Amino acid sequence: QAVFQSDIGTLLEQVGTGKESLSFMKRRIRRLAAQWASAARRLHDRLHNQWREQKRILVHVGFLTEESGDVFSPKVLKGGPLGEMVQWADIVAALHVLGHDLKISVSLKELHGFLGVPPGRGSCPLTGPLPFDLIYTDYHGLQQMKQHMGLSLRKHKCHIRVIDTFGTEPAYNHEEYATLHGYRTNWGYWNLHGQQYMTMFPHTPDNSFMGFVAEELNDTERLNIQRNKVNNMAVVYGKEASMWKGKERFLAILHRHMEIHGTVYYETQRPPEVPAFVKNHGLLPQHELQQLLRKAKLFVGFGFPYEGPAPLEAIANGCVFLQPKFSPPHSSLNHEFFRGKPTSREVSSQHPYAEQYIGRPHVVTIDFNKSEEFDATIREIIKMNVEPFLPYEYTCEGMLERVHAYIQNQDFCSPDDPFPSANTSRSWLGGSPSPFALLPNSSILTWASNASSYASWPPLSALRLLASLEGQSCVSACQSAGLICEPAFYRFINIKEAFSALDFQCEGLESEMNHLYPAFAAEHAECGLQHDALLFSCAGAGAKYQRLCPCRDYRVGQVALCRDCL
Ligand code: UDP
Repeated sequence: QAVFQSDIGTLLEQVGTGKESLSFMKRRIRRLAAQWASAARRLHDRLHNQWREQKRILVHVGFLTEESGDVFSPKVLKGGPLGEMVQWADIVAALHVLGHDLKISVSLKELHGFLGVPPGRGSCPLTGPLPFDLIYTDYHGLQQMKQHMGLSLRKHKCHIRVIDTFGTEPAYNHEEYATLHGYRTNWGYWNLHGQQYMTMFPHTPDNSFMGFVAEELNDTERLNIQRNKVNNMAVVYGKEASMWKGKERFLAILHRHMEIHGTVYYETQRPPEVPAFVKNHGLLPQHELQQLLRKAKLFVGFGFPYEGPAPLEAIANGCVFLQPKFSPPHSSLNHEFFRGKPTSREVSSQHPYAEQYIGRPHVVTIDFNKSEEFDATIREIIKMNVEPFLPYEYTCEGMLERVHAYIQNQDFCSPDDPFPSANTSRSWLGGSPSPFALLPNSSILTWASNASSYASWPPLSALRLLASLEGQSCVSACQSAGLICEPAFYRFINIKEAFSALDFQCEGLESEMNHLYPAFAAEHAECGLQHDALLFSCAGAGAKYQRLCPCRDYRVGQVALCRDCL
């Protein structure tokens, strides 16, 4: 049984010392300790003594190991990618507070020690059982485990979770498919289950959503913020000088109306990219940045970095986040930053989560190339009255709730075919009666109640079957119905009956490896079933396909969980 623990003393010891990155994480854990503790109390009360199994968990932060070059630790004081550090600090804090048996490794030596693999060069298979129920790592760590565990990694990989900021789509993850169809990248093709990858924002439903937290305010702090807001004060999003390059025109317009602040790292001289009229504070410690954001009215992004934590922190402190719309959207096809990343996702603005899940009045997304609109928007923002806002899924309680639900319910080790054997979807389609019945309900279908006798998480009662339009992905088909695509449900809808339930008349029926399947192609009335469960994918769209989409409901403010998921 896992018991919530609010004392962070042992956690701080486990994080260790000797690197700036670890000090950054420890400062953050200390600063948020009280919030974690009160969130744990609230979640404990809400779960009504629900039994929670205590798991043995290893966290191996691959990118911080010397062996992967540890390029980040020296950059921490210079504004390097602090977002990753923020997320890892929050992950270990959440796992600790939930009361699991946690080990943390930031070197190969520690990894070997924890896994019981003899140190040395080359691949040394792990002979005994895996001494952990779950291993959280990143792509660097995965590579290291492959090198040092050899073939035994394959046996144990269902226990692994990969922290993967921008996400990995199934077509890139499937080694054979990626190689045959041009989806091979430097990162993908690990043949994991798509939901073993965990992202920073809930942008890829094929993956799970790990997230991080932002600071919450009490009533006094909220009141003080309202009183002390300086309406004409703006902070620019961008802690590295390169992020300011070529932005003179926007800065000049902004400067007409507002006092501009920056937190750009510099050593001795002011970076030339930052104009003299900007008050540059240099890179600030996190709590000082929070203070600056409490006074500022506007937090403005110039297009980079993509999808970081800072905009959520600004919005949580009562700023309006103004950001550029990308038209056409940025992706691995047209932008250097995303090139080689295992995703085709199209990024519609600097921070699509802020744009789509938060929106006005907290988030304003416009075309920055239209100078007049940019100017008018700034004048409008100065007059706006905006309250601090933090989506529940980014509070400590929201993160604990989500991570708890994943840990207790996600299982990638048991065989996941609801039908008796691996190729049954086909033989079963050949004749024997379906264990399920589909009940038409206008264009949306629900499974018969006997289906719910199958152990499934999310529970099958949440399933809503939809057909996408031609050329539309299941991500967007579910979204347009106010739902979210749930890849865990594909295995239940990958059957012939699902086509007839959606009124598709199949002239032909094939079963193939195709990340767009199950789908219907109108041209020859061809119905396609998915042959490989690893390729079930919410992402992806094909001009001639109407895809079969397993959608589900979600909790407002906690999109990772369905209403009956807890
Ligand atoms: N940050 C900071 N001091 C600064 C600017 C940023 O501590 O002067 C922190 C900020 O609070 C946020 C983190 O750096 O939590 C990551 O910021 P960003 O959104 O820029 O993401 P990144 O590009 O580092 O992933």
